[in-house]
Amino acid sequence: MQYATWFAEQLVHWQQQHGRNNLPWQVQKSPYKTWLSEVMLQQTQVATVIPYFERFVQRFPDIQSLAQAPIDEVLHLWTGLGYYARARNLHKAAVEIVTEHAGQFPTDFEQIVALPGIGRSTAGAILSLALGQHYPILDGNCKRVLARFAGIAGWPGQKQVEQQLWQLAEQLTPADTFAEFNQGMMDLGASLCSRSKPRCAECPLQRHCLAALQGDQALYPGKKPKKAIPEKQSFWLLLQHQQQVYMLQRPASGLWGGLFGFLEFNSAELRDEYLSLQGLAAMPKYELAGFRHTFSHFHLWIQPMLLKLERLPAMVQEQSTATWFTIDPIPEVGLSAPAKQLLQQLAVYSPD
Ligand code: SF4
Repeated sequence: MQYATWFAEQLVHWQQQHGRNNLPWQVQKSPYKTWLSEVMLQQTQVATVIPYFERFVQRFPDIQSLAQAPIDEVLHLWTGLGYYARARNLHKAAVEIVTEHAGQFPTDFEQIVALPGIGRSTAGAILSLALGQHYPILDGNCKRVLARFAGIAGWPGQKQVEQQLWQLAEQLTPADTFAEFNQGMMDLGASLCSRSKPRCAECPLQRHCLAALQGDQALYPGKKPKKAIPEKQSFWLLLQHQQQVYMLQRPASGLWGGLFGFLEFNSAELRDEYLSLQGLAAMPKYELAGFRHTFSHFHLWIQPMLLKLERLPAMVQEQSTATWFTIDPIPEVGLSAPAKQLLQQLAVYSPD
């Protein structure tokens, strides 16, 4: 990394001047306090965490007291902080530390990440901030700072993007001032390099920050890709008799509620079955061009078929919500957009 030394010096200097150095878990540091604060800070702002942290350490001043407590009491102290799996894992991990590590917080990376609820970044924070070991961290704030600084595109939830960010964090974390550096990354991400309005003019990294230089900070980190919208199929049957078409009113609620449309089937087989039942199978049929209609939560692929009737079949006429409408002019009733589109198409061109 070209600017690794410069980056670390800038950040550490800034942290000492402007960073947070008097948070309750920074006073008389211990792995237990750092661990607790890191878990509480996941998905939660510092200002919210402080009173919870203070109440928690007052009631459970060490790992032993936490391990011995009934889980209900732990959850009670967590009430309002959300993501309760964090509290359950914290309690489970405390019991494990007491039973498997003689009540001493482990100092080995592999042993720490093996504890419930502790990932690589939390382990790195405990090791670097409380145990003086050289480990990088990569929480949400760090991801934002690094993605912007180096212009790393893509959603950090994707393995390869996360790997790139970890690699960069490893390259940038200095050999000596790693604790200040890691604290600085968290502090900068939580203050100047905020999600919506980064204050780049005040940032110590601005000179070489790619996103700041390009003015595209909002692109980093990349957003979670939207889920692919599922596609459904619908087979429509347009029954035409002279210059009229057969349409049905849909139920009042649901998709296209109360609007008029054509006969619809979930498969071509069901449509053909219907035609046989109605004695229409032998009538001339025309497959019209299929098209896609998009709803907020799915795409509908519509495959229309036109059937030209020589006379009106009795059963078709009997349907209570069904009506024969003129094709041109288009009926003045509520029509679904694709139904309207098809009517307009028929008005201009109808195959023989
Ligand atoms: S210059 Fe702006 S975008 Fe870059 S790290 Fe600093 S605050 Fe974030």
